[in-house]
Amino acid sequence: MQKNIVIAIDGYSSCGKSTIARTLAKKLHFIYIDSGAMYRAVTLYFLRKDIALDDHDAIVSALADIHLNFHSRDYQSHITLNDEEVSEEIRQMPVSQLVSDVSAIREVRVEMVRQQQRMGRSKNIIMDGRDIGTVVFPNADLKLFMTADPKIRAERRFKELMLKGEQVTMEEIFENIAHRDFLDTTREESPLVRADDAIILDNTTIDQEQQLAFVLGYVTPLLLKEAN
Ligand code: C5P
Repeated sequence: MQKNIVIAIDGYSSCGKSTIARTLAKKLHFIYIDSGAMYRAVTLYFLRKDIALDDHDAIVSALADIHLNFHSRDYQSHITLNDEEVSEEIRQMPVSQLVSDVSAIREVRVEMVRQQQRMGRSKNIIMDGRDIGTVVFPNADLKLFMTADPKIRAERRFKELMLKGEQVTMEEIFENIAHRDFLDTTREESPLVRADDAIILDNTTIDQEQQLAFVLGYVTPLLLKEAN
C-alpha cells in the first residue's frame, strides 16, 4: 500500500497559509485541514458558554461536549461545531481576540492534536497552523514555514474583512496580529517555532502565483519519489 503524504504549513497569523494550502490541495487533490479553525471553533464555544479560561474542570467537560467536523466544498474548509456551520462566525473579531489565549491551554491543545493526528493517518493531507511540523506531524513529508512583514499582513487581512463588510479598523487588525504573534511564539505549550527542516517562505513581496511555483518546486520531486 502506498504511504499517505503529509504537507505541514506553519507560520505567523495572516501570512496567507490557508490560501497556499487550499490552492495546493486543489491542484494535488489532497485534503486540506485548517487547524486554526479548530482552535477558533473551541474559542467560540467557550465564549458562548462563558467558560472561564482558568476553570480547568469546566474546560475539560466542555472539550468532551465539543464535536468538530470539516466539510470540504471547493477546497474551502467549512467547519461545524456540534453540527452547526460556524465558518463565518469563527473569523469575527471576538473570536480572533480570544483564540490565542484559548489555544495556549494545555488541555485544549492535547485534544486538538489528537484529532488532527487522526485526520492525517490515512489520507494525503495539507494541514496549516502553528505546530503542525513541530508537534502534530514531526515526520511530515514537507514542511513550510511562512512569514511576511506584519504591516503587509494587516493590510491584506483588512481588505479581506472589508470585503466581507466587517466593521474593523486597520489599527485593530494590526494590533490583533501583533498580539497573536506574541502569544503564539511565547506560550509554554507548543509555541510557534520553525522546525529545523522547514522551508521558509517569506511572501512580503511575492504574489500568489510566485508562491505556488516556489512550493511546487519542492512538492513535485516529493510526488515523483512517492510514485516510484
Ligand atoms: O490560523 P489562524 O490564524 O486561524 O489560527 C487562530 C489561532 O489559533 C492562532 O493565532 C493560534 O493562537 C491558534 N493556533 C494554534 N495552533 C495551530 C493553529 C492555530 O495555536 N495549529
